[in-house]
Amino acid sequence: MSVITRFAPSPTGMLHIGHAFSALFSFNKAMEQNGTFLLRIEDIDQNRCRPEFEKYIFEDLQWLGIDWEKPVRRQSEHMEDYKKALAHLKQLGVLYPCFCTRKEIREEIEKAGNAPHESYGYMYPNICKNRNIQEAEGKSFALRLDMEKAVKLAKKKCGTLEWNDAKRGIVQAAPEKFGDIVLARKDTPVSYHLAVTLDDNIQNVSLVTRGEDLFESTHIHRLLQALLDLKVPKYHHHRLLVDEKGQRFAKRNKSLTLHFLREKGYSNKDVLSMIGKIM
Ligand code: GLU
Repeated sequence: MSVITRFAPSPTGMLHIGHAFSALFSFNKAMEQNGTFLLRIEDIDQNRCRPEFEKYIFEDLQWLGIDWEKPVRRQSEHMEDYKKALAHLKQLGVLYPCFCTRKEIREEIEKAGNAPHESYGYMYPNICKNRNIQEAEGKSFALRLDMEKAVKLAKKKCGTLEWNDAKRGIVQAAPEKFGDIVLARKDTPVSYHLAVTLDDNIQNVSLVTRGEDLFESTHIHRLLQALLDLKVPKYHHHRLLVDEKGQRFAKRNKSLTLHFLREKGYSNKDVLSMIGKIM
């Protein structure tokens, strides 16, 4: 089977030059091997996503000369898939409801005096660990993965958890370091980790390309693949583009958004050569 890659932006702001690099990286990986390139709209966080940003994503990518398979998968249209996966995880006994507010979690962490990890922050201090789903009736709650149970079960099913990473070779997944992560939030019925892992499986993505900033997340995604019996794609975590001060481009830096550059009369060739120079 030929390769299937994807670019999966969230319409929470305008695409910038770093996104252009990432989209082109994925598109080129597919084209080099006569494969398929997909665009997926990651809009589960309906409080932050806006239709106008989605429109700019389509326009910007087209302008760059990128073409993708239609129809585009929009996560907000597939909540049933995510609910089914959550039900499956519940059945496996690896989820518990969490009623904590952010403030309560923060206070508990402060009491314990723990330091955050530089790339994945604080571990949840297990306040709700022994609560069960029945207690949640009528209350607002998040669903957390009982990491210890989940890892034990995954290893029982699959032996070791590993993935093939273009830059690092075979990587052993170590999701334990994240502690009990949230898989469904109080205000969003599914988390990024679960939605992205399921979608890559549903869309038969065989090479996940994305920035180094998401490398750590792959440890969690590999665990979810084992728990839910999903296919394991290859991964290529590409480097992130930085500006002349060494800072990453962000959606808040208006001046390097593709929309702004287009409006200013730059051509797509100018942008491609800008990216070429930074690379
Ligand atoms: N939607 C994610 C983002 O915009 C990317 C997801 C992924 O590539 O895994 O950062």
